[in-house]
Amino acid sequence: MTSEFEIIQRHFNKKTKHTILGIGDDAAIIKIQKNYELVVSSDMLVENIHFLKKTDPSRLGWKSLAVNLSDIASMGAKAKWVTLSISLPKPDQIWLKKFSQGFFRCAEKFGVDLIGGDTTKGPLVISITIMGEIAKGQSLLRSAAKINDDIWVTGQLGNASMGLASLQGKIKLTPPLKMKCVKALEIPMPKVLLGVHLSKFAHSCIDVSDGLIQDLGHIIKNSKVGATIFLNQIPCEDFIKTSKKYHFALNGGDDYELLFTAPVKNRTHIEKIAKETNTQVNRIGIISNQRSIKIVNENGKLLSFNVKGFDHFA
Ligand code: ADP
Ligand code: MG
Repeated sequence: MTSEFEIIQRHFNKKTKHTILGIGDDAAIIKIQKNYELVVSSDMLVENIHFLKKTDPSRLGWKSLAVNLSDIASMGAKAKWVTLSISLPKPDQIWLKKFSQGFFRCAEKFGVDLIGGDTTKGPLVISITIMGEIAKGQSLLRSAAKINDDIWVTGQLGNASMGLASLQGKIKLTPPLKMKCVKALEIPMPKVLLGVHLSKFAHSCIDVSDGLIQDLGHIIKNSKVGATIFLNQIPCEDFIKTSKKYHFALNGGDDYELLFTAPVKNRTHIEKIAKETNTQVNRIGIISNQRSIKIVNENGKLLSFNVKGFDHFA
């Protein structure tokens, strides 16, 4: 029988790059740069709630970290350290090997050190706490959108939720589109590089994890403003437009794109950093003084939508 310590040693104790003391003691020790602030976020992934039972463990390892990286990116900060707590039913070496491979592929790509965690027996749950740094006072808050800001979004919206719907047999996609959407669901690419640069040019930012409208709702509520969204400017698959299944792009979860607002004068700067970081960006609307979200078509006609994003307790 494998012990907890063997699991940690074999699968999770890897060399760190910017940590004073990592895995192995009662606690880790890190040091942040002078005039910087520590930015901290946690995300939990629970089997059958956040991922399907048959999800490939290596993809799950990647995604567990990627969704946390997305939170730090949306603050405009640079992620550096992470802790990983796992509860698992049995010490399945193959599962652990694949999971840790996916996890460390993501950790190495984005330069984060795994510095600790906890390992226990129980239902499959993965809980991660991520820590990053940002120059004092430079974080991108949900409460800082200003009237007349442009509203921008990275990537494409709706792909992950279409991937899930197609795995559940709720929609039928062509094989290449299904593959693309399942990849978006299972191997999301957090917009880490753009996030760091955005702290200079954006006013506010959030990552789209529970659907565009719900997450934009957090920005407008916290900033005490409203928003107008141009439906035809939302970047999404043609499938969504031709089949009029806009709810995937408007309410679908798990996209992990960045939704941010920025002054009009920064448009060219934003396009430049997007190009430099190889990130697709689109302007999809403007911040208004109306205190609600309006969705309009290309003629400016107001459209009505059921704007319910994902809520665990709804
Ligand atoms: P304690 O009994 O003090 O909680 P543990 O035996 O749980 O310590 O953990 C031993 C070391 O291994 C600690 O440094 C802890 O942070 C680390 N650790 C435990 N589980 C994990 C994990 N899943 N991933 C990374 N580090 C872990
Ligand atoms: Mg412990």
